[in-house]
Amino acid sequence: ANVLIESDKRFDKDRIRMKDKSDHATIENVLDSRIKNKLHKLFEKGILAEINGCISTGKEANVYYAKSKNKDEIAIKIYRTSILTFRNREKYIRGEYRFDHVHSLSNPRKMVKVWAEKEFSNLKRLEQGGVRAPRPILSGGHLLLMEFLGSDGWAAPKLKDAVLTDSKSRTLYRECIEIMWKMYNKCRLVHADLSEYNMLYHDGSIVVIDVSQAVDRDHCNAMEFLRNDCSNITAFFKKYDVGVMSLQALFDFITD
Ligand code: ATP
Ligand code: MN
Repeated sequence: ANVLIESDKRFDKDRIRMKDKSDHATIENVLDSRIKNKLHKLFEKGILAEINGCISTGKEANVYYAKSKNKDEIAIKIYRTSILTFRNREKYIRGEYRFDHVHSLSNPRKMVKVWAEKEFSNLKRLEQGGVRAPRPILSGGHLLLMEFLGSDGWAAPKLKDAVLTDSKSRTLYRECIEIMWKMYNKCRLVHADLSEYNMLYHDGSIVVIDVSQAVDRDHCNAMEFLRNDCSNITAFFKKYDVGVMSLQALFDFITD
C-alpha cells in the first residue's frame, strides 16, 4: 500500500505538471478512481511495484513507465474516455466479426474497455505472426500493460525521430514492407494508423506499436485503411535515398 501511496504522489506530480499545461481536465479524466482501484489491485498482486512517471501524453491515451516486483520494465497505456476521441473509434470496431457482440458503443466506458481489449488481442496476433511489437501482459478496464521498449528507462525513439543513414534507411524500408506483408498475411491484420509515429526504432529495427485501431483484414474498410498505411510509409521513406516502389506495387505485393 505504501508503494501505491508513493505512486499516487507521482500521479499528483503529473497532475500538477499537466495543470501547468492547462490540460488538467483531461488528466483528471484519465486517472479517475476506477483506474486507481485497478492499479491498486495490480500493486497488491505484485504485477506492478512502482510507477515512475509519464512516457507520453497523447490524444488517445497516456503511457506510463512502471516496474513489476521482478523488476521487469512495463509500459502502462491508459485510454481516454473523452467524447472527442471515442466517436472516432466506432468505425474501427464495427464491421468485423470479432466485435459483433458489442452493442453499447455509445457508452464511453464500455467503448474504452473494448478498445483496450482490441489492442491486447491485436498485440497477441502480432506476437503469434512474428511481427515485432510490445509483448502484451494484460488488459483490464481502461488500461493495457505491455513490455516496455527502451533501455535504462528511456523509451525507444519513434521512427520519425531516429537518425538514419541512407544505408540504414534502405534496410528499414525493406523491413517495413516485410512487416506489412506479415501483418496482412500471417496476422490477418491491417494496422490502419501505420506511420513513422507508430513505429519505434529499437535495437536497430522497427517495432510496431499503437494497434488499438488495427482491424481484421476482413473488415469492410480494411482495403481503404491498407492503402492509407501504404501511402504513409511511402511518403516517409521518400525522404531518404531508398528508391521506394509505387503505391500500387506495394499494395499488390502485400495483398497478392
Ligand atoms: P498519441 O495520440 O500520442 O499517438 P496513442 O494513443 O496513439 O498516443 P501510442 O502511440 O500507443 O498511444 O503510445 C504513445 C507513445 O508512447 C508512443 O509514441 C511511444 O513513444 C510511447 N510508447 C507506447 N508504447 C510503448 C512501449 N511499449 N514502450 C515504450 N514506449 C512506448
Ligand atoms: Mn500513436
